[in-house]
Amino acid sequence: MTKIAFIGVGNMGAGMAANQAKAGRAVKVFDRSAQAVARAAEMGCAAAPSIAEAVSDADVVITMLPAGQHVRAVYAKDVLPNARKGALLIDCSTIDVESARAVAAQAEAAGFRFADAPVSGGIMAADAGTLAFMIGGREADVADVKAALEPMARVATYAGDHGAGQAAKICNNMLLGISMLGTCEAFALAEKLGLDAQRFFEIVTGASGNCWSVSAYCPVPGVGPQTPADRGYEGGFAAAMMLKDLKLAQQAAAAAGGATPLGALAEAQYALFANLGYAGKDFSGVIQMMRGRLDELSA
Ligand code: NAD
Repeated sequence: MTKIAFIGVGNMGAGMAANQAKAGRAVKVFDRSAQAVARAAEMGCAAAPSIAEAVSDADVVITMLPAGQHVRAVYAKDVLPNARKGALLIDCSTIDVESARAVAAQAEAAGFRFADAPVSGGIMAADAGTLAFMIGGREADVADVKAALEPMARVATYAGDHGAGQAAKICNNMLLGISMLGTCEAFALAEKLGLDAQRFFEIVTGASGNCWSVSAYCPVPGVGPQTPADRGYEGGFAAAMMLKDLKLAQQAAAAAGGATPLGALAEAQYALFANLGYAGKDFSGVIQMMRGRLDELSA
């Protein structure tokens, strides 16, 4: 039986670890939150007292942590000194490209195979085992990485060498942030011009302005499929998370000499929305700012 060590069982990691257990793998979890560990234990995982213990006999180590600093610290202090030789190490967190490459280099220097494999899809996809993974690592390891991710994945795509998974993820989310702002602006203007939102939705989804932010994640309540807009912009993908990813994109653009003016504008818009007190609301809630109806969003 494949042994998995899963480090970081928060909003995303809990469902991901549970899907590994459901697939018949022996999953040991660790999180610095005892509550998170207890929840994962209820879902078929075994609680480990430390990262060292969790990784000591694992075939695959998966990390799902908040940001680059957490991943760097956990790998340097706990995973690399204690993991079983030959273990496959996969970081699924969304972090900066530089940290992903630094951790990959340390892991390889210590004799491990490593891949960055951030995900697209939120908590619902994590729970359902339908995440989209973007893999960065050595091509020779891709088959093993895909096999390890399989119980958590709808699709897993190889993006390139170490860091390429993170690069793909932040470019995708920069595009999502920009397209959501465009969608919100268009629906807010349509409203000002007296158009019915449902009719406008039907027109756009059959026309050249269509995109995922319109068709699958419409920011107007009661229009299109069920989205966080129908739940007062609760749940879903928090504006704070979108802001984090837009910052990562700007950081990467600055380091690589890329010009991303719309990404910069999107970062500023989400920073404003977050600073107004709505960091915890779904990122599509930014439409209320454009409609001048922030009072309808309880902060
Ligand atoms: P989260 O804060 O709910 O979970 C992170 C977990 O890591 C927490 O339970 C925390 O206690 C634990 N942790 C932090 N430092 C630790 C340490 N040193 N040792 C052990 N555990 C530690 O966050 P999340 O929403 O699950 O997101 C995790 C990652 O997934 C982030 O990088 C995020 O950007 C990315 N992501 C999130 C979503 C989403 O919709 N939530 C979607 C795609 C990607």
